[in-house]
Amino acid sequence: MTTQPFVMLNDGHRMPQLGLGVWQASNEDVLTAVREALNDGYRSIDTAAIYKNETGVGEALLQTDIARQDLFITTKLWNSDQTMAPKALKESLQKLRLEYVDLYLMHWPVPSQDTYVQAWRDMIKLKEEGLAKSIGVCNFNAPHLQRLLDETGVTPAINQIELHPLLQQRAMRQWNAQHNIQTESWSPLAQGGDGVFNQDVIRSLAEKYGKSPAQIVIRWHLDSGLVVIPKSVTPSRIKENFAVLDFQLQPHELDSIATLDKGQRLGPDPDSFNKV
Ligand code: NDP
Repeated sequence: MTTQPFVMLNDGHRMPQLGLGVWQASNEDVLTAVREALNDGYRSIDTAAIYKNETGVGEALLQTDIARQDLFITTKLWNSDQTMAPKALKESLQKLRLEYVDLYLMHWPVPSQDTYVQAWRDMIKLKEEGLAKSIGVCNFNAPHLQRLLDETGVTPAINQIELHPLLQQRAMRQWNAQHNIQTESWSPLAQGGDGVFNQDVIRSLAEKYGKSPAQIVIRWHLDSGLVVIPKSVTPSRIKENFAVLDFQLQPHELDSIATLDKGQRLGPDPDSFNKV
């Protein structure tokens, strides 16, 4: 196995390109999943206050002897906490049993609330105080990002967006790249099941490389320069999803996966998502 790839963020911090997502997993499941992942070589974990499993992540981190500086822990500021980011991050840190997170992300812009610029100013201070090494956003469209840039002058390190072969987000990826923002893919496997795994292009590449469809899709994210955080609570799948470092897709194979783009969202549209 080759060593795991990293990306360099716009603030000079390094982030593993492949990590474990833990949405929709209980504290109990997360404890086992994170433990398994760390044993398999993962160093990056993506949780959020709203997932209500930061305690389970913290428990697993407490049990590992991997040095803190070798871990990369992400959590997120929930929508109803946009006016109290310092309090929210401190609560997350307490649950995670950490002194700092490597990445703090604003979860959604919630345009109807119109508090995301204020939240971003608070996150800039949290970074200055060392409670978050890097700060970024999720689900921001170009106008939301442009407003942050115009009003604060501080560019998010990451924009984590829904991205998989059925929703390839070419325009948003290009906008992010032009502004030196790293794109990170959420629901990278299109939430599992047959949606992507059964596509002929994916199946024939899986056969060619002797890999599973999930591994082909994860490799597509990596070879497209994206940060990717597939979720699983199944030990064999956690292992499988990390066993992608010994092959690479060819440019023409990436092109063949490009044909699967249907612009089809599984999650909400950031312009209208107002859940608090
Ligand atoms: P994924 O696209 O990662 O798919 C997860 C599903 O695929 C689970 O049902 C899992 O099952 C299954 N699966 C995982 N690996 C395999 C495999 N090798 N073969 C077959 N099935 C597999 O979906 P998510 O929506 O969870 O997205 C990943 C992460 O992105 C989240 O966990 C979260 O951290 C983040 N996210 C962020 C959002 C945001 O707004 N910022 C929104 C949504 C997600 P099982 O667990 O049973 O093994």
